[in-house]
Amino acid sequence: MTAAERGTPMRYGYIGLGHLGGHLAASLRRAGYPLTVHDLDRSLADRHFALGARWADSPREVAENSDAVFTCLPSPAVSERVLAGPRGILEGAKLGGCWIEMSTLGRDDIRALGAVAMARGLSVLETPVTGGVHRAATGDITILAGGDKALFERHRPALQAMGGQIFHMGPLGSASIIKVITNMLAFIHLVADGEALMLAKRGGLDLAQAFHAIKASSGNSFVHETEGQLILNGSYDIGFTMDLAMKDLGFAMEFGEEFRVPLALAGLTQQIFKQAQQAYGGGAWSTQVVKLLEDALKTDLRAPGFPARLGEGTR
Ligand code: NAD
Repeated sequence: MTAAERGTPMRYGYIGLGHLGGHLAASLRRAGYPLTVHDLDRSLADRHFALGARWADSPREVAENSDAVFTCLPSPAVSERVLAGPRGILEGAKLGGCWIEMSTLGRDDIRALGAVAMARGLSVLETPVTGGVHRAATGDITILAGGDKALFERHRPALQAMGGQIFHMGPLGSASIIKVITNMLAFIHLVADGEALMLAKRGGLDLAQAFHAIKASSGNSFVHETEGQLILNGSYDIGFTMDLAMKDLGFAMEFGEEFRVPLALAGLTQQIFKQAQQAYGGGAWSTQVVKLLEDALKTDLRAPGFPARLGEGTR
């Protein structure tokens, strides 16, 4: 049953139609919710127009036309501008409106921005996601929520339209902690997977067979199963950039200091990612961190039979 079939549906806005947000907004619209969208790049909205979404020229206009506004933006600075800057959400939101932040923010960022929005009469949820762009595309991404439980329940149907498993973690800020933790693990696993595949290659193994053996072994990981395929294909196209990885690793290291937990592996991983960011640029796919090893050893990790993008056929 779509939202429209369930009675008067909540009117949602969606700001930030990039690699991730584009899919999430499309899922929301497909579920029948009236949707107003905005991005700096208007052409990204074409697919949403085809689904029946309407365009707004500014975050303010999105808020004027919505009961609740989702954002999915690249950095805390951009989130702040879109929320509280000129022609921002706060200028257009009605008292009792809601802001739902899906971007990955630091815990202090979401708490500070949340306080600004709440002081203006809005309710606030954080719902960062994890699992990758391919899972956002299929509506199966995991959603991590923080904020008032009753408010979360009110918006659960919309979240369920965009995601698969949904976890309410606690008050505002708690979702950003678990989000950073799980990304920290993923980046460590990625560097480790590159080393593992390189050992297999240099050890003279058939790389495709090594991939499948690892996948069925105690060394397997979500990252190996997903990004490992993109490494072997050579596309590295995970839809998540080096800059975003560095942002998240920065948050993880800050938590390490604050909670007094030594993060030896995360620290080393951050250094390796920094080298990769310098070598390939901040807009390069995060999976290219493995290319550092390939370039250093002049040994590539290609094998036939793996897709260029997750969810697509092999080529
Ligand atoms: P992206 O760069 O592809 O998309 C961001 C979008 O925001 C772009 O379309 C950009 O034009 C738009 N934007 C930037 N400034 C704007 C402004 N002032 N007003 C309106 N729109 C503006 O990034 P993404 O990969 O979609 O990631 C978005 C967020 O989700 C980030 O916080 C990221 O850390 C998080 N995230 C991404 C993934 C992923 O796999 N890509 C997974 C989990 C979490």
